[in-house]
Parts: sequence; C-alpha cells; structure tokens
Amino acid sequence: MKERKCHECETTMVGECTIRVEGGGYGIKIQKKGHGLFNRVAESPQVYVCPSCGYVAMYVDNAERFAD
Ligand SMILES: [Zn+2]
Repeated sequence: MKERKCHECETTMVGECTIRVEGGGYGIKIQKKGHGLFNRVAESPQVYVCPSCGYVAMYVDNAERFAD
C-alpha cells in the first residue's frame, strides 16, 4: 500500500479504511463510461483518512484505465 500525505496538512494518512453507505450496504465504485456500449470502467477506491485533520481521500489502483 502506498503512503499518502494529507493534501490539507501533510500528515501521513491511514489507509485500508472503508466507506460505509448508510441505508445502502453497497460499496462505492468509481465509474466512467467508455466509448462503446459495454466499455465501462469501474474500480473500487482505496480510502485514506488523515488522523490529524480528518481529511478523507479516495484513490483507485488502476487509474490509467480511466484515461481517454
Ligand atoms: Zn490532514
């Protein structure tokens, strides 16, 4: 797992967190429509929390898949 610094205060963020959607029970997916009908990109994000200021960040592992 990559080390991430908080964008707000430069503290090292804590990874391996998850987002819980209240009332839903589904995980979050970051999705982007592709060019074809079934050509859709979807990734589950890694969630990081800054233990100093509370900033929350999400990163996808295969970000290059979202490039045009
Ligand atoms: Zn912070």
